[in-house]
Amino acid sequence: MPVKVAINGYGTIGKRVADAVLKQKDMELVGVTKTKPNFEGRIAVNKGIKLFATSQDRLKAFEDAGLKVQGTLEDLLKEVDLVVDCTPGKVGASYKPLYEKYKVKAIFQGGEKHDVAGFSFNAVCNYKGAVGRDFVRVVSCNTTGLCRSLYAIDKAFGIKKARVVLVRRGADPAEDSKGPINSIVPDPVTIPSHHGPDVQKVLPHIDITTMAFAVPETLMHVHVLNLELNNSATESDVLNALSQYPRIRIVSAQEGVDSTSTIIEYARDLGRARYDLPELVVWKESVKSFGKEVYLTQAVHQEAIVVPENIDAIRAMTKLTESPEESMRLTNESLGIGR
Ligand code: NAD
Repeated sequence: MPVKVAINGYGTIGKRVADAVLKQKDMELVGVTKTKPNFEGRIAVNKGIKLFATSQDRLKAFEDAGLKVQGTLEDLLKEVDLVVDCTPGKVGASYKPLYEKYKVKAIFQGGEKHDVAGFSFNAVCNYKGAVGRDFVRVVSCNTTGLCRSLYAIDKAFGIKKARVVLVRRGADPAEDSKGPINSIVPDPVTIPSHHGPDVQKVLPHIDITTMAFAVPETLMHVHVLNLELNNSATESDVLNALSQYPRIRIVSAQEGVDSTSTIIEYARDLGRARYDLPELVVWKESVKSFGKEVYLTQAVHQEAIVVPENIDAIRAMTKLTESPEESMRLTNESLGIGR
């Protein structure tokens, strides 16, 4: 029997996770919720996805807009095994009592605190720890990107110390009201930023300090990593280690993939829907080794990178498979990751 899944919050992450669930043979998307009628809800209905209002008092707005809904979130929760909470940051926690009331497993996103679930997830790092759990938090886009590369390099050479500068996109492409629009903002101005401690929720043994800046750009985040290793590695050793993982894609600036906008163009040319690139992108030429000291630069497509992690979290929590390799293989194949 496929696992029955609901999505609460059909926005940037929710609609992508919904599309990914639709591609899994072992999962069924029962429905998605919206707070108010808009084009995303209408497209969902036209695609055959069942739409639910988040609460009773919102039903009339959908009726007035002529957008068919099947009931409320509470009606939806009665029909599912698991809900993927994709509501805005810090809103998800307020829904936990409702998920508990309907005895539905729940995945929260990186905008929530670790404590909301008590377990922060990244498929390659700690899949087995999520097996059978009722609540899991898939870490944020930046943390997911860092976990992937740090895990690969730590496995191969051991990481003694990681120091990372994050250049964060100011907003997602459709977020007209957010910024900055003419500034580089230390975000936060204090060190460390929250990303390092968040990585440690998944990889507790990594000594990591992060600092972050927000910039007027919407396409991707960029991270500059300075790593002190336990064992020496050449540039090709590092690239070989990263290449073992389908969710890490090495690109070449010499071939013209030399900026976040050309990475997006590359994703378009790959034929990716919404130009989504769930893979972490590492620039080949950025890898520089001084024996045990290594530098590299990586880019994160913030809207897409957490999508496969949510799919794997569903498999782990519902015990569809207890094997991380099997789950990641199924997810990667269905989403075209690594191709
Ligand atoms: P979003 O604003 O694009 O989408 C949130 C959706 O939830 C919208 O459809 C909104 O209408 C709906 N919503 C608002 N209030 C609600 C409520 N009370 N109940 C139910 N639904 C409600 O947000 P997003 O960018 O998709 O972020 C969702 C989560 O994913 C956050 O925790 C965020 O931190 C995390 N995340 C976002 C990104 C990103 O780059 N956008 C990347 C990784 C993780």
